[in-house]
Amino acid sequence: MTDLAVSRQQILKRIENACTESRRPANTVRLLAVSKQQEAGQIRALYAAGQIAFGENYVQEALAKQAVLTDLAIEWHFIGQIQRNKTRDLAAHFDWVHSVDRLLIAERLSAQRSGDLKPLNLCIEVNIDGEDTKGGCPPEAVPGLVESMSRLPNVRLRGLMVIPAKTSSDGPDPFQRAQAVFEQVRSFHSVPEDWDTLSMGMSADLEQAIAAGATMVRVGTALFGARSAK
Ligand SMILES: *Cc1c(COP(=O)(O)O)cnc(C)c1O
Repeated sequence: MTDLAVSRQQILKRIENACTESRRPANTVRLLAVSKQQEAGQIRALYAAGQIAFGENYVQEALAKQAVLTDLAIEWHFIGQIQRNKTRDLAAHFDWVHSVDRLLIAERLSAQRSGDLKPLNLCIEVNIDGEDTKGGCPPEAVPGLVESMSRLPNVRLRGLMVIPAKTSSDGPDPFQRAQAVFEQVRSFHSVPEDWDTLSMGMSADLEQAIAAGATMVRVGTALFGARSAK
């Protein structure tokens, strides 16, 4: 096995162990390989090891890599901050966008998604720790956004994406607070049909996220090694 295949097996084992701890079936958590600042060749190698879903943070960088990987059936996820002038590229070249935090962005993605493609899967990014510097909507905004976004054509609203603060504050675990917001939507009488995704947990904290119900963990460093400074 290649080094990348070995690290992938190790992460899958961590996911499986975390699921066992929480008495969840292992197939309820997907691994998203975060390939920002990694070469297309690395993505190709990891794909050969069985990894299908890859996450990117920067539109131009992602498009350049996609252009040389068109022979692979990769599922592309966008997890970076969204500038409104980039929505057309996202709508044309991705399968998922995790970082939607305002209605205008969802409306543009819906309008720009070609009817020939499958609907674009969306998650609402929630700023769970109320950090000034971070994207994401406040938790209180989630019900209203769900209501409006689930009516848009050409997109499927799947759930929430969360990146907790680096230095966690005292008090309830941010992953558990995110889980509460996610579950709250399930109790709506108009819960979106495909509300099934809680995207949270990274290299250092995926166990904690899985304990709080994460269904997709986004792992970069633990798979590929440290990213080179840009
Ligand atoms: C970079 C990044 C990750 C991966 O983080 P690692 O610590 O390298 O696993 C996950 N999610 C988002 C939104 C990121 O930007």
